[in-house]
Amino acid sequence: TPPSGAHRPRLTFLGTGYLGATYAICFAELGYEVIGFDVDEAKIAKLAGGEVPFHEAGLDELLRKNLASGRLRFSTDYAEVAEFGDVHFICVGTPQRADGMGADLRYVEAAVSGLARHLTRKALIVGKSTVPVGTAEWVEQLVAKHAPSELGVEVAWSPEFLQEGHAVEDVLRPNRIVVGVRSEWAAAMLDAAHEGVVTLAATEDREVPVVVTDFATAELVKVAANAFLATKISFINAMAEVCEAAGGDVTNLARAIGYDPRIGNRFLRAGLGFGGGCLPKDIRAFQARAQELGAGEALRFLHEVDLINQRRRSRVVRLAADMLDRGYGPAGPELAGARVAVLGATFKPDSDDVRDSPALAVAATLGKAGADVRVYDPQGIDNARRALPDVTYEATMADAVRGADLVCVLTEWAEFRTADPAALGELVSGRRVIDGRNCLEAAEWIRAGWQYRGMGRPDGE
Ligand code: NAD
Repeated sequence: TPPSGAHRPRLTFLGTGYLGATYAICFAELGYEVIGFDVDEAKIAKLAGGEVPFHEAGLDELLRKNLASGRLRFSTDYAEVAEFGDVHFICVGTPQRADGMGADLRYVEAAVSGLARHLTRKALIVGKSTVPVGTAEWVEQLVAKHAPSELGVEVAWSPEFLQEGHAVEDVLRPNRIVVGVRSEWAAAMLDAAHEGVVTLAATEDREVPVVVTDFATAELVKVAANAFLATKISFINAMAEVCEAAGGDVTNLARAIGYDPRIGNRFLRAGLGFGGGCLPKDIRAFQARAQELGAGEALRFLHEVDLINQRRRSRVVRLAADMLDRGYGPAGPELAGARVAVLGATFKPDSDDVRDSPALAVAATLGKAGADVRVYDPQGIDNARRALPDVTYEATMADAVRGADLVCVLTEWAEFRTADPAALGELVSGRRVIDGRNCLEAAEWIRAGWQYRGMGRPDGE
C-alpha cells in the first residue's frame, strides 16, 4: 500500500491526454490526492468511469484501482480544481501551428487563465507541456493578469520525457527530473510533489537525479533532448541512404558503430523514421523559436534531419513501385490494380497513437497512387480510420494480407516481428515484403520464398 498522502501537496493535472492522464493515475498510485481535469467532457466521463481513452499497457488497471482508493477523481470544473490543488500541472497539447512551424499555445493560455481566474489561495502552476523557450515567463504574465495578486501564485516548469508504450514505467521511475524555478518556495513545493517518485526509487535502491535550473534551461532541455534523438535517427537513416547507393547493409553498420559506447546502439535503427505527436513538431517549433531569437543558424541542421526523415517515406513508396514492376512518373508511382497490405498504422508499437505516423503517411501515398490498400494494426485502427478514412481497414493481419501483391511492414509490432512467413505466404497473391522497420528475420522470409526488401540493405537480403 502506498504511504498516506496526508502530508503531501494535493495535485491536479490539466489536460488528460497521453501525458496528463498517465500522470494523474500514476501520482494517485504513488499516494497523492489527485484531480485530473480536461475540457473534453467525453474524455473525463470515460476516465471517471474507469476507462483509459487511449492504449497504454497497465494503465487501465491502475486507473480502476486508484479510483476505488478515493485518491483519484476527474473533473471539468475549473473552480473545483482551483479549490482542491496545491500544485497544478499544465499538461495540455501544444500542437504545430497551422502556419507550419511554431507551437500553438492557445490551449496553454486557456488552461492557465481558466485556472488562474478561479484560484482562491496560493498555489504553484507547473508547466509540463513541451513549449518554446520563453513560455514560462509568458505564463507568469498570464497568471499575474488573471489570478488575484494578493495570493502570490507562482509558476515553475518541469518538462516531461515519458515515452508512449512505456509511459507508466517512465512516470513512476523517471531517469531524471528537471525543474525550472524562480523561488525557494517553488523548489520546495516541487520537491514535495516529486517525493513519491524519489521515495519509490530509494526503496528500490535507485536514485533519481534532479536538475534544478532556470526557466529557459528547463524549457530548452526538452526540445534539446528531442532534437538529439531525432538527429540520431536521421543520422542512421542517412547512412541507410548511402548504403542503398553503395550496396552496404546499414543494420550491420549500425551494430558495428553502436559497440562504441560513445555512440551506443539505442535509437540507432534505420527504418521508416520518426513520427508521433512529439519529435516532428518539436524539432520544427525549436527551429522557429531559435530563428525568432536570432539563433536560427545554430539549428539549420534540424531542417536536414526533417528532410532525411521524410525521404524514408518516399523510399518505401519507390520500393513498392519497383517490387510491383510499376512505373514511377514525376507525379508519383502508378499502382492502380495493385493490392498492398500495410501492417502497422501507429507511429510506434505498443501505442494507439497515429499522429504524424510514417506508416499512415505511406499508406496514404500508396492509396493516392491507385493501390488497393488494406491496413491492419493491433491497436491503432480506430484512430487511423479517423485520420485516414480513404483506405480499407482489416480486423486481422490475415485479412489484410489475403490476396496482397505486396506486404509492407511499417510499424514494428511484436505480432508482425513474430509472424510466420510460411503461413502468410499461403495467403498472399505475391510473396513480396518491404520491411520498413528492419524488424523481420530477413533470412527466414527469403527461405519461405519471399522477395524481401529492407531499409538501407542490399536487394534480396
Ligand atoms: P493529447 O492531445 O493527448 O492531450 C492534450 C489534452 O489537453 C486533450 O485531452 C485536450 O482535451 C486537453 N485540453 C485542451 N485544452 C484544455 C484546457 N483548456 N484545459 C484542460 N485540458 C485541455 O497530448 P499529449 O500527448 O498528452 O501531450 C501534451 C503535451 O505534453 C504536449 O505539449 C506534448 O508535446 C507533451 N509531451 C507529450 C509526450 C507524449 O509522449 N505524448 C511526452 C512528453 C511531452
